[in-house]
Amino acid sequence: MTTVLSDAAKDALRVDNAHLIGGEWVPARSGETIEVINPATGETLAQVPRGTAEDVDDAVRAATAAFPAWRDTSATARAELIMKWVRLIQEHETELDRLESQDVGRPHWGPIAPIRILTFIAGQADKVLGTSMPTHSPDVIGLTLREPYGVVGSVIPWNAPAAMFSNDVGAAIAAGNTIVIKPAEDAPLAPLALAKLAMEAGIPAGVVNVVTGYGPEAGAAIPAHPGVHRMSFTGSPQTGQAVMEACAKNLTPLHLELGGKSPQVVFDDADLDAAIPAIVAGITLNTGQVCAAGSRVVVDRSVHQEVVRRLAERMRQVKVGPWHQPVQMGPLINAKQHDRVMGYVRLGQEEGAELVLGGGVPSGEEFERGYFVEATLFDQVRPDMRIAQEEIFGPVLAVIPFDGETEALEVANGTEYGLVASVWTRDVGRAVRMSRGIQAGQVAVNAALGPGVIGAPFGGYKRSGFGRTMSADAVKEYTRVKAVSLRGTAL
Ligand code: NAD
Repeated sequence: MTTVLSDAAKDALRVDNAHLIGGEWVPARSGETIEVINPATGETLAQVPRGTAEDVDDAVRAATAAFPAWRDTSATARAELIMKWVRLIQEHETELDRLESQDVGRPHWGPIAPIRILTFIAGQADKVLGTSMPTHSPDVIGLTLREPYGVVGSVIPWNAPAAMFSNDVGAAIAAGNTIVIKPAEDAPLAPLALAKLAMEAGIPAGVVNVVTGYGPEAGAAIPAHPGVHRMSFTGSPQTGQAVMEACAKNLTPLHLELGGKSPQVVFDDADLDAAIPAIVAGITLNTGQVCAAGSRVVVDRSVHQEVVRRLAERMRQVKVGPWHQPVQMGPLINAKQHDRVMGYVRLGQEEGAELVLGGGVPSGEEFERGYFVEATLFDQVRPDMRIAQEEIFGPVLAVIPFDGETEALEVANGTEYGLVASVWTRDVGRAVRMSRGIQAGQVAVNAALGPGVIGAPFGGYKRSGFGRTMSADAVKEYTRVKAVSLRGTAL
């Protein structure tokens, strides 16, 4: 087995064939396992339990038992434990980064997300405030309490597992809930490592429970469980719909972080020196497997040809290879995703779009066993083509020319998604109009994705989902409001 993790790192971070239920590392009840594959080589990285509804039931019971004591732990103590967890993550930062890179297949993409996410969240744990309200009588005091739900359920995808795990687990437990979370079967190793460090930090048994397994088996059992009182799902719209239907049966509230087909709107006065590298990085980062990837370049016809030429030039320089080499793009996650992306490349050509660059599999021995694809650029894409409408989740960029601001807005808003958008212009008036007009949860002007913004709320419009993470209300989102009126007795 090819490995780039030291033995010490494996001891600290890896748990072989066990998931975490009630503070114990246990195999699946069925005894069955899932092989976790290195997408760059096809080799097996680890075995994890193939959990099912039985394991989920065990985990919900453990989380239910742990809830009262955790709810009643002071918010300061909860914040301190989360910060202790952060310090352990810092100690293991490089190895955690490598573990996730190996599992997902992506090259290093900057400081690992859990540190900043959990630090931000820990700061909110003791700031979950209620309100006081006016009353009809001086004998009465009215106030609101924000209380945790109890057991939170969560299902996350494989593309950024450590960040997704931290967002959901951090916010849920900071608010005093306990959690049962299922990582994706393709990339569960960083979540398991983070859970291991959470236990080491002293977060009590049963507060964080991780069940590994396949979606229809372990995943579906979480929203279906009557002991789960609040649900969070991140993944595809199709699965999101199934999760919402399951939640409807128990009237469980939920939030959904789903897909995207995000536009990069480039006007004729845009600073192309800034726009071109940002757009290329946006579609090649994580091999395009990012929900917020800017996969449509909606460009003013007067600069269209120059933009296509410069995009092609830049994309041609993107080096593809295994994550631990000096490359910008690793493989796709699995064979299914590879077939899907290659299918869209064929479809784009059949639909009449012009394939400017890429569209194939890189040749050479090192690419033979991994799920590699080339960075791909389509020009002359019409807004109604499927490659302009559907989320590909790969490094495939579609260029759609427009005439005038009204058409730019129409095209930008013309899909069923609305996750993020970028607008490239030097005209402030136009930037304001576009920021207001675009139907998306985040709009960045002259940048890809809220640069340097700490705690920007993240979430979708339309079929990209609802609810927000990462915001000043990240922890509050995991609480519900109770109104209390206190009538004093007469002297
Ligand atoms: P997916 O929906 O197939 O899987 C996501 C998770 O759901 C996995 O853990 C999977 O095991 C589980 N699952 C599958 N079937 C299930 C079921 N019937 N019930 C419960 N759980 C089930 O998505 P994916 O292919 O793993 O991820 C890619 C999708 O996720 C893309 O659409 C992408 O845009 C989206 N995504 C969104 C965000 C966001 O924050 N908006 C972030 C990352 C990924």
